[in-house]
Parts: sequence; structure tokens; C-alpha cells
Amino acid sequence: MKNTLDLFQRITKELLIDEKEHPVANHIPSSELFDTIDLSLKTDPLGEEEFEKVIKELVFASPRTATKGFFNQLFGGRNEKAILGELLSVILNNSMYTYKAAGAQIGVEKVILREICNMIGWDENSDGTLAPGGSMTNFMSMLMARDRASSEVSQQGMRQKMIVYTSKESHYSIPKNATFCGIGRENVRYIPTDNQGRVVATHLEEMIQQDVADGGLPVMVNLTAGTTVLGAFDPIRSVSKICKKHNLWLHVDGAYCGSVLFSEKYKHLIDGVELVDSFSVNAHKMIGTPLSCSIIVVKDKKHLYDSLSNDASYLYQTDHDGFNLGKTSLQCGRRNDALKFWTLWKSVGTKGLEKIVDHQFALADTARDYVRNHEDYTLYSHDETIAICFNYKGIPARDICTLLYEHSKLLVGYGSFDGDEFIRLITINAQNEHQDILNFFQTMEQFVAENVALFEEEVVA
Ligand SMILES: *Cc1c(COP(=O)(O)O)cnc(C)c1O
Repeated sequence: MKNTLDLFQRITKELLIDEKEHPVANHIPSSELFDTIDLSLKTDPLGEEEFEKVIKELVFASPRTATKGFFNQLFGGRNEKAILGELLSVILNNSMYTYKAAGAQIGVEKVILREICNMIGWDENSDGTLAPGGSMTNFMSMLMARDRASSEVSQQGMRQKMIVYTSKESHYSIPKNATFCGIGRENVRYIPTDNQGRVVATHLEEMIQQDVADGGLPVMVNLTAGTTVLGAFDPIRSVSKICKKHNLWLHVDGAYCGSVLFSEKYKHLIDGVELVDSFSVNAHKMIGTPLSCSIIVVKDKKHLYDSLSNDASYLYQTDHDGFNLGKTSLQCGRRNDALKFWTLWKSVGTKGLEKIVDHQFALADTARDYVRNHEDYTLYSHDETIAICFNYKGIPARDICTLLYEHSKLLVGYGSFDGDEFIRLITINAQNEHQDILNFFQTMEQFVAENVALFEEEVVA
């Protein structure tokens, strides 16, 4: 083991040094991947030296998502205390289904869930669990909504048309999960949004009445705290009233920006969150733990058990359900995603988490100011979001993003809203400084200036 851990140290040390010089890895076109690195698996073992060489090559060729060159998705950076927790969870290799197999680590998970429930303002009836990603925690919310509306479905299958409401700006996992749940994509209704991409509650009531008149059974509304493209926050309080009146499950998908819960300054963006039935948040997004750390909490833990528990005498042999977390899990064996969040939280405190969140909004303000103050730019995003959406010199956003990627300059993506397509700069890496954001614009502008011919080709093509 020692030699292998030394190898790990050697490779990561070299990588970290190289990342400083080269924040973006050399782009390998997918069509050339298998000719560029020998990924083939052989019958015979590899010598240690050869092994080290090929591992290093692979590591150095991989996209660098923790650097000042990565603005592409809703994660980034490296929180070292969280990485420590992740590495320890790999070495320990506990499985989170029982106290017998995970012991003290069960306490780690329970403490995080309790703390988040307390911050929301929920009592001891609340609880939660972790799942491999926000798509899966959203899936759990839909299962609970379905089962609360009809306890028969889990035994007899779907007999009635159930309806789910969300907005077009919500995550694609909502319609996808409707297929998994037996609800069906066609029974997902899209609530209209305003010019900032936020759900407009007034339309919802009419839609529900129409579906009931048509013989449907409305079961759930999904709201988003941080929509995937614009980073917008849906209004919880007004929608909650409608859900209460019609007895619908209300879920808030906070995978992206639900972590505003940790910020005194920004938690008003999820005002009313204590009124919802379930709330999910990805610590691997704003909080910056390694992938993945996705949490769902529910106001009444009864629903977690109703939808997810299963007896298994070969598994649950000691301790009670409160410590055998497999009883509220989608999975059987489950890796320890809680520890990396706990090591970070333990070391920086809740105040440290707040700083992480606030810094991302401050970086976003810097980026928005830059875009507002430079006339070659058009801004599409709004204040109090960490997605800065813009166009530059009227060049198609996808051309700039693709060429920056192919030339190994920057990783940034594009999105669209209301017929406009734009570059989407995400300020989610809290290790970035304000200067790093300004450098992003400078790198992009310089690249465009030096490659005028390329852009003309792209536009013609
Ligand atoms: C990222 C995201 C998800 C999906 O989370 P994964 O962990 O990638 O599965 C769901 N909803 C929203 C709003 C997101 O931004």
C-alpha cells in the first residue's frame, strides 16, 4: 500500500504544479482519443514503471476542472479539507446502509442532515438522506409525492393519471424522473416564467383546475433554487399556498444554489423554504466538495420510510432504523458521501460555508459589472445569480465556447433563454479571486482578437 500511496502523492504533486502553468489540459479530439493514449486492457500484468507512466499520462490528459480555466459547469475548485474527507472515505470504504458496517460514519451523516433541517427551521420529525446526485434526490422527491398521493401505486402500479408541475427552466431530471416513476413525460406540465426565468404562480392554479377537470390527479410542484441556465430562484411562499390548498407535494430543487441556506445575506432567495415538503442541495456545487455530495431533506420523515424502506433480514440485524440508513435510501450498498462535507464543515465552521457562498456572489457581481461596463458586451443575466450570461461583439456564443475549448484556452459553456443564445460564465469556484474573473474576459477577448479568421470561418460554416 505504501508504494501505491507514494505514487499517488508523486502524481498529484506534479499535476498541481502543472495546473498552475496550464490551467486547461491539451484538448484531445474524441476521434483521436484511443490513438493518443493507450487505454487498452491486456491479458498480462504491467511492470510498475510502465504502470506509473500510463497512469500519469492519463491524469495529465484529463480535463482540469479545479483550475482558473474551468467555468463550464456548476462545480469547480478544490476544497482541501473536503478532499481529505473524500480520500478517507475511500480508504475506510464503509457502506452507509447499516450502523454495523459504517458505525461512527452514520453519525457524520446524521449530524449533517440534522443541522440542515435545523437551519431550515424544521423539528425532529424531519430527516433526509444522500444520493448520487441531484437528479437522484429529485427522483426521491417525486417518488414520495407519488406515494403520498396514492398509497396503492407502490403495490399495484399506476392506475391513475398523475400530474407534476415544473417550469421549462427547471432541470431535465424532472421529466426524466417522471418516466422512472411511471408518471410519464406527457404528464409533466410547464408553468410559465417571467423575464428572469422565475415561475409565475398565478398561472399554476388554473393549470391544476384544468387537470382535475380532465380527470388527472395533480401530485407535485417542483420549484428550482438556481435554475440551470440563468441561476434564477422560483418564488416558494406564493406557490406553497397553492400546494397547500390542492394538497400537492412541494419540492425545491436546490441542487445548484440551495446552499444560499448558509448565507445570511442570500438566504432570502429561498424565503419560505420551511414551508416545503422536500428540499435538495448539492454540496458538490456551491459548497465545492468533490463530486458527488447530494442531499435531500424532508419535513416529515415518514415519507422517506413509506417510499424507500424495505425489510431485509440478511442486512438489518442490529441497531434500530434511525441508525440503519439503508432504510431511507435508493441504494443498497452506498458510499460515504457525507464525510467530505463534514470534514470541510468541521474545519471552516458554518461561517466558513457562508463565506464560500457569499464569495461566489461577489465574483458574479464583478463579472456582471465588467459586462455592463464594456460596450462590446450584451448582458442577459440578473442580479443575485451566479451565472453571468452574455454575448461578445455579436459573435455566436457556441463559436466562442467551442473554439476556446478546441484551442485549450478556457472551458466555458453556452445556454439559451427566451430565444437568445449566450455564453454562460459560472462563478462557482470559490477559490477564484476577482482578478481571475477579469482574466477570463481578457483571455477570451485576446483569443477572439488573435483569431478573427477562425471566427469568420465558423460563421460562414
Ligand atoms: C446540477 C443540477 C441537477 C442535477 O444534479 P446532479 O448532481 O448533476 O445529478 C438538478 N437540478 C439542478 C437545478 C441542477 O443545477
